[in-house]
Amino acid sequence: MDNEEIRQLREQNAALRALLDSLGRDAAHNQAVLQRFQERELALLGAADLIELLERLTRGMRRSFSLDSLKLKLFDPYQVLQDLLDTQGEDLGGLLHDVELCDDVAETRTRFGNLDEPWLGRWCGHQHAPLFGWHVGGSVALLPLRHAEGLAGYLCLGSRDAHRFESAQATDFLAHLASTAAVCLENAVNRERLRLAGLTDSLTGLYNRRHLQHRLAQEVVRSQRYGQALSCLFVDADHFKRINDKYGHAAGDQVLIALAQRLRARLRGSDLPTRYGGEEFAVLLPETDLPNALLLAEQIRATIASGGIAVTPDQTIDVTVSIGVSELDLETQAVNPGEAMLRVADEAVYLAKADGRNCVRTMAD
Ligand code: GH3
Ligand code: MG
Ligand code: MG
Repeated sequence: MDNEEIRQLREQNAALRALLDSLGRDAAHNQAVLQRFQERELALLGAADLIELLERLTRGMRRSFSLDSLKLKLFDPYQVLQDLLDTQGEDLGGLLHDVELCDDVAETRTRFGNLDEPWLGRWCGHQHAPLFGWHVGGSVALLPLRHAEGLAGYLCLGSRDAHRFESAQATDFLAHLASTAAVCLENAVNRERLRLAGLTDSLTGLYNRRHLQHRLAQEVVRSQRYGQALSCLFVDADHFKRINDKYGHAAGDQVLIALAQRLRARLRGSDLPTRYGGEEFAVLLPETDLPNALLLAEQIRATIASGGIAVTPDQTIDVTVSIGVSELDLETQAVNPGEAMLRVADEAVYLAKADGRNCVRTMAD
């Protein structure tokens, strides 16, 4: 073997070693990526409830994949998710910053085609800005989340690095992660719906007493912490027994449904109307003091008394309500100030009944 051959062999050897090193580095990198994906999937599968799942799908994802931007866009045409989130009674503002509920399934579908697989590529403003809601730049990955009933939404990942997500990249890991995320979401939503069914009254669709107790405890804590007022109304239908006796129980039921609707129509999204029992409704009014609660109660009373409720095309039933109003008193000696507030509103209803019904009373008079 002459010197030239030896030199060539050395060169080949060096090139092979470099290739081997690079393959080794790739393998280590792929192993690390796989591990990160597996960890994320385990985190999604282990989420205790919908809120934790959304947390892990957004903040958790952003952190573990070092993303510059992330948006979880979920289709919610029937406001199911919105209602579920509303019942949490916690301030979800920070968490939901990266979550967007939308009802334009058809429109989004048309705009992004019938995306079946993850799409990776350069940021394109007019196409991607509507998904993220802001400028991302660099590159993006759009993961369609599919469940049994079709498209549930998109998980949109963004990086300022133009080469982070490229169309030639393999997408198996991302596709797997998207499937896991979609199944976890469907599960969590179904679990929440079951929970919610246990918290709502089937006749009026209002929350029930159990939910009121739960929210009352939270609202009292919030009030203590931030010094905000909290009031409540007790609304009791007048002579309801007579309505049942005269028109029948089914017509009575229709009147209760209409009462709930009229009540709801006067309230803000943060107020909590509940069916406390039979023909009694309780309403929690966060950030509302006694004078404002009294004003609202008077409006509710007047709205209900202003016109009969049509139960059939040719039959309307006149109904009135008596309302008791109270405000949370944190100076009270009562062990449970929230319960004490409800009790005082209930007592005020008796005053209203004694004063001839169809009126608003408070024990502070
Ligand atoms: P008051 O003005 O003193 O409140 O008189 P009231 O008749 O409304 O009060 P009372 O407590 O005597 O009767 C309540 C009635 O409400 C009796 C009950 O049959 C009726 N009621 C309770 N729940 C329902 C319901 O789900 N559907 C119907 N149709 N009636 C109900
Ligand atoms: Mg009653
Ligand atoms: Mg009554």
